[in-house]
Amino acid sequence: MQEGLLIYDKSVSGRRGYTLPDTESGETELLDMIPDQFRRNEDAELPEITEPETMRHFVALSVKNHHIEKGFYPLGSCTMKYNPKRNDAAASLKGFECHHPLAPCSSSKGLLELMYGLMSDLGEISGFDQVSLQPVAGAQGEFAGLLIMQAYHRERGDSRTKIIIPDSAHGTNPASVSSVGYTTVQIKSNEQGIIAPESVAEVMDETVAGMMLTNPNTLGIFETHCKEIAEIVHFHGGLMYMDGANLNANMGIFRPGDVGFDMMHFNLHKTMSTPHGGGGPGGGAIGVIRELGKYLPYPVLEKDDKSELFFNYDRPHSIGRLHSFFGNFANMVRAFAYIRTLGGKGVRRVSENAVLNANYLKELLKDSFDLPYAGHCMHEFVLSGNRQKKKGVRTFDMAKRMLDFGIHPPTVYFPLIVQEAMMIEPTETETKETLDKFIETMRTIAKEVEESPEMVTGAPHNTIVKRLDEVGAVRNLDVCLRS
Ligand SMILES: *Cc1c(COP(=O)(O)O)cnc(C)c1O
Repeated sequence: MQEGLLIYDKSVSGRRGYTLPDTESGETELLDMIPDQFRRNEDAELPEITEPETMRHFVALSVKNHHIEKGFYPLGSCTMKYNPKRNDAAASLKGFECHHPLAPCSSSKGLLELMYGLMSDLGEISGFDQVSLQPVAGAQGEFAGLLIMQAYHRERGDSRTKIIIPDSAHGTNPASVSSVGYTTVQIKSNEQGIIAPESVAEVMDETVAGMMLTNPNTLGIFETHCKEIAEIVHFHGGLMYMDGANLNANMGIFRPGDVGFDMMHFNLHKTMSTPHGGGGPGGGAIGVIRELGKYLPYPVLEKDDKSELFFNYDRPHSIGRLHSFFGNFANMVRAFAYIRTLGGKGVRRVSENAVLNANYLKELLKDSFDLPYAGHCMHEFVLSGNRQKKKGVRTFDMAKRMLDFGIHPPTVYFPLIVQEAMMIEPTETETKETLDKFIETMRTIAKEVEESPEMVTGAPHNTIVKRLDEVGAVRNLDVCLRS
């Protein structure tokens, strides 16, 4: 155990951070009313420490870990951008935070207006007719979408069993497929890193319920044939699902609903300003074409004939409920604040800058590392550490070395179709100076691989913990700090 991690280590008998007034006699009487069996016999074992020492302790702990408020975080596929603090402040407004989820619609008008406004904004951004805010993660949005596909086919007496997924897809796609009882048909990306319509045509038939496609895909490349692919899938009666996790590249530029997708999920926590990582809470809203609206999870927020908002529970075709109440409301507030403060043009600028930043990095790094899919990228791109591997240094080592420079490594070893992959997503919130520092760091590491590889294979050198037993950490998950 590292010294100083436990606040108890700093405890000195008699120190106080905060002094409560002596209990007055009336209050003592109240205390006397607590039955003996509910009282503790000994004092609670609390650390005895002053207030400034307490502050310093927790601030010191917070900078031992890496986070977006400390440094660059180009974790591909995750959109780890800086999220404006004002959106957190909006989500913490008392009227939102303290509102009871069981309060009647008549006393929840402001909240319902916000949800309705967000549903309409998401519909506008994606090109879909109806939106449900209920799913609480991208993965749950996928699950909802696939249940909708299933309900749609069942209603037609059609017992299809398969879903087509590209080999570049995120792992949640096949996992969602098997969660609803379908099986995955995997197809290969071509040399340009995208799906050719012919590969879909080869496997598409009347046993396939639909196809999931991520656009831009996890290689950061735009799937230029998505319209043609949708036509093939529709021709055989299937539906098209878009994994919208990479929406940060598309906003105001490309609307999936316009090119033949039937449904998609949004990752509100990635694209629309909820700080994430560590497992939640997320927002995985879904959008669908009009024909599929009746299957959305209930209750559905609708306007009655007097234009008053209410939750409609009478939805006989609905796939059911996916989450308690109406989803993660605080994520909705942040997403709404994000969209409305940026406006239509601002939202588009986000995507343009995300794409520009990624291309800038790609162009200036492609000489130092292998770039398996050259050409224009969208908001992220994938390098390969194959050249360095030949010198005995793996991508894993280089990722650890980046920590020494105060940079979070990119996503590594994903997507699976690139050997020694490094998937880099700078996001739009970084300055040119930060991007330049990243380029310089990556070039320094590439040089070290040539000249002093042990510097890289022995990394990290400056972090509080060195190489961790990652397999052990997964098998024996114990996040409780003990001395
Ligand atoms: C993050 C991600 C998902 C899953 O979303 P969660 O909100 O983490 O469940 C799905 N697909 C892609 C491409 C992603 O990047």
